[in-house]
Amino acid sequence: MSRLTFLYHPDVLLHDTGAGHPERRLRVETLVAHLMSTDLWSAMDHRRPEEAPLEAMTAVHTSPYLETVERTIANGETLLDDGDTRVCPASWRAARLAAGAAMLGIDLACGGERAHVFSAMRPPGHHAESSRAMGFCIVNHVAVAARHAQRRYGIGRVAIVDWDVHHGNGTEEIFWRDPSVLYVSLHQYPLWPGTGAASDAGDGDGRGTTVNCPLPPGSGEQAYERAFRERVVPALTSFGPELLIISAGFDAHRDDPLANMDLRAESFGRFTQMVGEATSRSLSAGIVSVLEGGYDLRALSSSVEVHLRELSAA
Ligand SMILES: [Zn+2]
Repeated sequence: MSRLTFLYHPDVLLHDTGAGHPERRLRVETLVAHLMSTDLWSAMDHRRPEEAPLEAMTAVHTSPYLETVERTIANGETLLDDGDTRVCPASWRAARLAAGAAMLGIDLACGGERAHVFSAMRPPGHHAESSRAMGFCIVNHVAVAARHAQRRYGIGRVAIVDWDVHHGNGTEEIFWRDPSVLYVSLHQYPLWPGTGAASDAGDGDGRGTTVNCPLPPGSGEQAYERAFRERVVPALTSFGPELLIISAGFDAHRDDPLANMDLRAESFGRFTQMVGEATSRSLSAGIVSVLEGGYDLRALSSSVEVHLRELSAA
């Protein structure tokens, strides 16, 4: 059992995506207020992250991309892509704080304490590619974290398990040819962004270290359990990661407005247990879980609570 550390910075509330946008400040505001009302809050350690340094972000993103994002935001523009990645002047700092939180998570998990960590930040990150903002995401926080762990702490094998209901195309793209990072995604398929077919398994030296588990709309715990048992757990066991990072999205909850899956809050506790058990022999660090999606306020709060209770027992 490891101590659980909760990472949060109120400046991520200043990231304003405009009226009617599902990725809104109320997501983490409501989540934090909910957790504060539980006994979990005082049982966790609490830390405030700092902005990720540029050189940590250029380990996964191109410099021209990061310069373009910073300039676009500084120029007062409100859209980073041809979709819905909306920004305001405070968004660059929010994105860097969220990446910095994932890095602080690594420092705490890989340091002497081997703490488990949850980062409750926004915007999310798993759709951000090496040179493209996408799907509310600007900086790919879990990718920055994985590279930080490898460079700073000499971690060899990192597993990223992504149970956000959308496929993490950005994380997949960044590690597509990299055998040192196992990327495992469970996602609704078909669904935006349309990537993540079961046959997409990486390329070159990285062939086999991308594992996609597409699941049909309407999938519930049984379908997920089966995917964990048949694909996720065997992949984790044979890879033997030293570090586990979770791209923790909660939009596969049945109440989520952006997708059509049939999970309950308790389902995320079960997932936490399964990935914890599958990696417990090989891990040399704590587990770092990073908030991605989840757009129904009540479902998000209750799902994260269940996830954190399991994480603190892992
Ligand atoms: Zn999502």
